[in-house]
Amino acid sequence: MAEPLFKRLALIGIGLIGSSVARIARERGDLAGEVVVNARTAKTLDRVRELGFADRVEADAARAVAGADCVMLCAPVGAFADIAAAVAPHLAQGAILTDVGSTKQSVIRDVGPLVPAGVHFVPTHPVAGTEYSGPDSGFTTLFEGRWALLTPPPGADEVAVAKVEELWRRCGSMVQRMEPGHHDRVLAIVSHLPHLIAFTICGTADDLADESRQEVVQFAASGFRDFTRIAASDPVMWRDIFLNNREALLEMLARFMEDAQAMSRAVRWGDAAYIEDKVERGRKIRRSLIEVKQA
Ligand code: NAP
Repeated sequence: MAEPLFKRLALIGIGLIGSSVARIARERGDLAGEVVVNARTAKTLDRVRELGFADRVEADAARAVAGADCVMLCAPVGAFADIAAAVAPHLAQGAILTDVGSTKQSVIRDVGPLVPAGVHFVPTHPVAGTEYSGPDSGFTTLFEGRWALLTPPPGADEVAVAKVEELWRRCGSMVQRMEPGHHDRVLAIVSHLPHLIAFTICGTADDLADESRQEVVQFAASGFRDFTRIAASDPVMWRDIFLNNREALLEMLARFMEDAQAMSRAVRWGDAAYIEDKVERGRKIRRSLIEVKQA
């Protein structure tokens, strides 16, 4: 077995993503010599003790990060500023501070200024997930074959960035570096807008009269069923993502609404060629996702 990458890995927040990393660390043994876990509520901390994937559970975030050579923020992005303020004075010299947040410009804005000199900040986003949340929902194959996107600030310590890349490779991911603004625009279209549409369409169905709402549930065709799976995601996490990627999300939404308007015209005026072309483009995108094994 390879040497553990880190002596002590502290995970702040332990839901789907954090608990998947902890489970991988336990299974492989070469991510960290010791895994320390912190979360917000006693209920979650108790559950982590029962699940047994942490070496130590700490109710206090400052105590959790003390002496850790890698600290990973795994809470919703809206909580990052407060967490960073609480832990920053307790970070060890030479430690790596990383995160798994779904938005990157906001993390750099909220956490970056609080990082003490001598601590290496390597923002990261593992592009992998399910609609489940909490410490029970993690699993060791979550990141397999998925991308981990790193957005290190200019001048970031190369050794620290390479270590974070290696951590994600050991978790089964492919890694790529990206400029944070570009990351946020790409994720707005491939993840944030689809979630916004899913939450909205479920709300629209829910607003229908009682009778038809029952039929929506009873006869849900696969199209609607797939939307409900996406819409089952954690409300706090998605509230924070929308509010922290506001500009890119609004831009993609405006483009989408123009295109939806064009589709609405095509339906109204019987423009069969337009409709067929759009469906064909959708099929093509699906085929290319299958080809690159990201379906
Ligand atoms: P999750 O399952 O909902 O778990 C969130 C964890 O954060 C819980 O342990 C929670 O503790 C803790 N937490 C919440 N508020 C906190 C606060 N104010 N201070 C300290 N801890 C707090 O979340 P997740 O799905 O793992 O997502 C975690 C992060 O990964 C988010 O930033 C998200 O954007 C990102 N991400 C998610 C996905 C996905 O598909 N789920 C994919 C990639 C990246 P309590 O239970 O004690 O409240």
